[in-house]
Amino acid sequence: MPSIQYRSLSGQSPQTDFRTAVLRGLAPDRSLYFPTEIPQLSTDFWRALPELSPVEIGLQLMAPLVAGSLEKSVLQQILSDTLSFEFPLVPVGEHCYSLELFHGPTMAFKDVGARFMAGCLEAFNRGKQKKTTVLVATSGDTGGAVARGFLGVEGVEVVILYPRDKVSDIQERQLTTLGQNIKALRVEGDFDACQHMVKEAFLDPELSHLTLTSANSINVARWMPQLLYYVLAYRTYLGLYSNSKVGSDRELPEPVFSVPSGNFGNICAGILAHKMGLPVAHFVAATNRNDTVPRYLATGNYAPHKTQPTISNAMDVSDPSNWVRINELFKGDLKAIREKVSAFQFTDAQTRQAMQEVARATGYICDPHGAVGYLGLQAALKAKGLALTAPAPGIFLETAHPIKFRPEVEKTLGITLEIPPQISAVMSGEKAFSGIDSYGQLREFLLTSS
Ligand SMILES: *Cc1c(COP(=O)(O)O)cnc(C)c1O
Repeated sequence: MPSIQYRSLSGQSPQTDFRTAVLRGLAPDRSLYFPTEIPQLSTDFWRALPELSPVEIGLQLMAPLVAGSLEKSVLQQILSDTLSFEFPLVPVGEHCYSLELFHGPTMAFKDVGARFMAGCLEAFNRGKQKKTTVLVATSGDTGGAVARGFLGVEGVEVVILYPRDKVSDIQERQLTTLGQNIKALRVEGDFDACQHMVKEAFLDPELSHLTLTSANSINVARWMPQLLYYVLAYRTYLGLYSNSKVGSDRELPEPVFSVPSGNFGNICAGILAHKMGLPVAHFVAATNRNDTVPRYLATGNYAPHKTQPTISNAMDVSDPSNWVRINELFKGDLKAIREKVSAFQFTDAQTRQAMQEVARATGYICDPHGAVGYLGLQAALKAKGLALTAPAPGIFLETAHPIKFRPEVEKTLGITLEIPPQISAVMSGEKAFSGIDSYGQLREFLLTSS
């Protein structure tokens, strides 16, 4: 079987292999890469999950997607680095679970994608003279995860742009205290200004001699490994279910996944897992007031508004890049999307109320993003016409540890959070960054530091 290739979604660029798609980030026609084929795993594989280790599962799922670009032994090494922490499913009330994705080094779910991508670039650069520069704009969590994932990776330099005064102190420390091959640029401006500068750099002919790539979820190496969360959650779920010895395999209800969504990379990876065979009853895309997708599913009219700041700020995105991939996974059929995916939006007031209710009823502490996921799950279970009546088990994704949104969580719940070791480790570091306020200064930086 010829190995899976990557095609550009606008179809204006030639197909390429995984390696080239990763090194480029975006296709030359500026659109996103997408696999030419979705690998299928057998029902036996899905049944046998509880007996397989996370790395074995990762190998089976990812090997066909990277075939021809990564040797199996290299992929195995990358996966064991990437999956080196827990992804527990914590009960929060009846038939409701929080899938905690924040036990990695930076305590946000982006650790897995960032670490996987770093492993790929490390493998692709081995023995090469030329350096690759990873250029990334961050509104907070991406930068920290990318910095940590790429720290010390040979042949790769990371340049992170973040908006001055718009990221939390913890987030800034995660970006600026690591040193080595990680450079932080503090931009006088907002996240959009950072993102704009990054885009300009990619199009700048004066920089065309540099190997620049991006590390946000437009990159297939950051986006696709996130499918493992859903599969590992399902494995845990099967384990819980067989321990409780209720019923047989046949009666096992398929879970509903509710995903707090911004750029829609995470939920898109979940849908990819489903298209590879993972049993899922329904997906819920939960957003804050940046509600382009909920409005689109309701009206069929895709009309982004201006981005609004919220307390779940990692999801302050009004034109999610990965929506085109979701559309592609359903072959552009809006009716098919609506049958499998619902979307709901929530205000900050609703989010705070949910954090308080969950804490009062169960003692569980949600961060604002997880709380939006929780709300999405409750809304879907109540929605008429979806027929997701209990006991359909609901799983909401907890995408960040509450400490990452410490002031908001402490104020809303009237508590003091303990500082986990991953965070106290960066609190003592010295912040190091360069300040820039124009694209010209970014270009200058890239030309002199390369
Ligand atoms: C990035 C992020 C999200 C949104 O994920 P997408 O893949 O962009 O939809 C949600 N929560 C947290 C904490 C994040 O860092």
